[in-house]
Amino acid sequence: MQYDWRDDPRWAAAHTAAVQDTRRGSVFCYQSGHDPWFSSSYYFETERGVVLIDTEYFQTSAAELWENIRRETSGQLLVIVITHAHPDHHWGNTFFHRVAPRAPILTSAGVFAEIEGTYVRQAEGIPEGFRPDCLSDPADIVLPDTVFHDRLTMRFDEITLELWECGPAECLHQVAGWIPEQRVLVAGDVLSNRQTVDAAQQTVEAWQLVLRGFTRLGPEHVLTGHLGAAGPELLAELDAWFSDLLALTGHELGPGEDPGRFAALDTRARAGVVAAMRERHPDWWDAMMSEADESILEWGLRMAAEREGTAGGTVVRRAPVVSAPCDLVIA
Ligand SMILES: [Zn+2]
Repeated sequence: MQYDWRDDPRWAAAHTAAVQDTRRGSVFCYQSGHDPWFSSSYYFETERGVVLIDTEYFQTSAAELWENIRRETSGQLLVIVITHAHPDHHWGNTFFHRVAPRAPILTSAGVFAEIEGTYVRQAEGIPEGFRPDCLSDPADIVLPDTVFHDRLTMRFDEITLELWECGPAECLHQVAGWIPEQRVLVAGDVLSNRQTVDAAQQTVEAWQLVLRGFTRLGPEHVLTGHLGAAGPELLAELDAWFSDLLALTGHELGPGEDPGRFAALDTRARAGVVAAMRERHPDWWDAMMSEADESILEWGLRMAAEREGTAGGTVVRRAPVVSAPCDLVIA
């Protein structure tokens, strides 16, 4: 029998929990009901038009997001910001480029390089069950057309959006954002709202440092890449979730081994780690990756071995970590 996440009772429970949190002042949240991971996009109105952050995975989700934007704002798109190089956050560019061809699609130089280096493989790997609503021909993918280096500030009459490149975390590079007027952190997939994260890049210790940098900003709200907005306590929760993960992998690998090197886990060890994590964090949503019977956590731990040493993923724990620009840190 094919797995259908929409039949899964956990989906309904998680969805109900998340939709309560869809509005944060003037920043709106859209959360996909089409993909298994509740990919989330955000948008807000300015005097010059609407700023949209991330464009979704399925074309149906992009179209629904666009309907919401037009219902709740002027519908004049000013700019689209892409947080990282995973298709669930930028495949919808194709839709938005059609309906709003003049809106620049903006990301950081590091994220752009990762998108450029991975989108063909990502498109060709789209699961059969997701097609055709999810683009699978690389020729259909619209890449960002505007790039910033390190940091960019957009100042409007009532709202400011500071963007910077941070990482490594789920990807080597990702764009984070800060809206000082509302103390809102735009986290992309550095945070998922109590949903397990993709650890295939083996960057967990660096990722924890990024989280701690975010914590020092003192956000009141965090806009996550999956399952919508959350309170700032989520930062410490994910940090603790990672510490548990490293403790369990370290136990499996034995003393003297690097606990962050998931590639060294065998099948039995991975299954043990996943079972223990589910027991310790029963309210975390370990979403399924696709129609295959494998969750995000299972997939990430298994993919670590496949990615290690390839252009798609290396052990980067010793790479310099960028969390927040120093003048954004509020003591
Ligand atoms: Zn994502």
